[in-house]
Amino acid sequence: MKIRTYNIAIDTTKAPEFVDITDKVSEFINDSQILSGFAVVYSKHTTAAIKINENEPLLLQDMEEFLEQMASRNATYRHNDFSIRTVNMTENECPNGHAHCQHLLLGTSENIPIINGNLQLGRWQRIFLMELDMPRPREVLVQVLGE
Ligand code: ZN
Repeated sequence: MKIRTYNIAIDTTKAPEFVDITDKVSEFINDSQILSGFAVVYSKHTTAAIKINENEPLLLQDMEEFLEQMASRNATYRHNDFSIRTVNMTENECPNGHAHCQHLLLGTSENIPIINGNLQLGRWQRIFLMELDMPRPREVLVQVLGE
């Protein structure tokens, strides 16, 4: 079995933002020369998710609204109350309780089968990095396993 590991560095520009990384992941599959196996696409963040869905602009707006309904940016979060919070505080901590709660619904990674050297994505399936917090540098790990 071969294992190849790749990184995608992305500077997101707004939040929420759905960044379509499908073409980049496909390039890695080609580069890996792995014909049969699977790829793990993994976000190294708690407020930026990886999810497969359709890249249709109006749908992306619907999904943004859905996430806002599930965990509104303007709701109250203990994580955002810096007068009581003491754990994992950084110098420029930003109030992002909504982004963590939205991330809980979406998840950190997707696994995609590879057959004959091709990612087995359906006609409308695209791979997204979903920025939920604010514009930031993000890192996505793509690990390709197989032979
Ligand atoms: Zn946080």
